[in-house]
Amino acid sequence: TPVTTPGGHRVPEEKIVVTVRLRPLNKREQASKDHVAWDCIDDCTIVYKPSPHERLVQQSSFTFDKVFGPDSMTEAVYEEGVKNVALSALMGINATIFAYGQTSSGKTYTMRGITEKAVNDIYMHIMNTPERDFRIKISGIEIYNENVRDLLNSESGRSLKLLDDPEKGTMVEKLMEETVDDDKHLRRLIGICEAQRQVGETALNDTSSRSHQIIRLTIESTLRESSGCVRSFVASLNFVDLAGSERASQTHADGARLREGCHINLSLMTLTTVIRKLSVGKRSGHIPYRDSKLTRILQHSLGGNARTAIICTLSPASGHVEQTRNTLYFASRAK
Ligand code: ADP
Ligand code: MG
Repeated sequence: TPVTTPGGHRVPEEKIVVTVRLRPLNKREQASKDHVAWDCIDDCTIVYKPSPHERLVQQSSFTFDKVFGPDSMTEAVYEEGVKNVALSALMGINATIFAYGQTSSGKTYTMRGITEKAVNDIYMHIMNTPERDFRIKISGIEIYNENVRDLLNSESGRSLKLLDDPEKGTMVEKLMEETVDDDKHLRRLIGICEAQRQVGETALNDTSSRSHQIIRLTIESTLRESSGCVRSFVASLNFVDLAGSERASQTHADGARLREGCHINLSLMTLTTVIRKLSVGKRSGHIPYRDSKLTRILQHSLGGNARTAIICTLSPASGHVEQTRNTLYFASRAK
């Protein structure tokens, strides 16, 4: 039976919603010899535009539930690719929203906008559902080199331990969790997490391309039914800005040469395996959640009854075709 949120929104049946967003060419790319190498020919299809004498040997057309072109607004990405997944958390269904793509493809840009829209929407639904009491808590995590850092508590040090709680699953030891007063307070706390991630970025050169950021909202609510029964709901809603996807691809397209200076990111590799197995479904066998920090932390928000939205961000530049293609292959396998 389909689940409906308090605002009457249908929660999607499919567990993984995959969309693709192509950003505009930026100034640096315009100034160099790059040109736009990809075209969104309709709402679902993105195609590669070969240069005049290029012989095409690889797949050049990719189809998804939804493709967002360079003129699209984050609003549309949220409405069509994320909203239903995010709002399912109000009904007690765990949900995770990912931005996946190479460094500079627009993950942080898209995730920030999406988080902002989701916060607005959640508070609108709370206001429209007076019969229910809601309580929201927030925590923020950064995973860098398999070390976990608390983004709400700058004093916490660089590597918090993970603990296995028989009831709650994997927990981050000593992680700060703040109870949110209202939407303004929530935005401020999200801002603190983002600023905290940037502090790391200047200290350790280019952290953001190597680190994962998770902003987790825990949404609890109680509903007193006319019979006097009290029902309670609880779910996590995770906003995940992933490390650059170039950290998941071990090889060049042409062979087994290890990409120089590009350290493989265990959490990202494990996540791609987990998502591929989840998308295959029941026959996929063992799912290796426990192989990385990221997948351990997200385990209960990925498998089972959980809902997932993955926004794959793409650079349009001709200089990035190989990575863009890798992202499209990942997106194709994830849906
Ligand atoms: P990433 O987090 O994947 O490394 P960013 O989100 O930092 O990439 O984006 C790289 C640059 O491109 C930023 O300056 C950002 O403002 C810009 N950008 C990204 N996506 C878009 C978009 N859809 N429209 C306009 N500018 C964008
Ligand atoms: Mg980023």
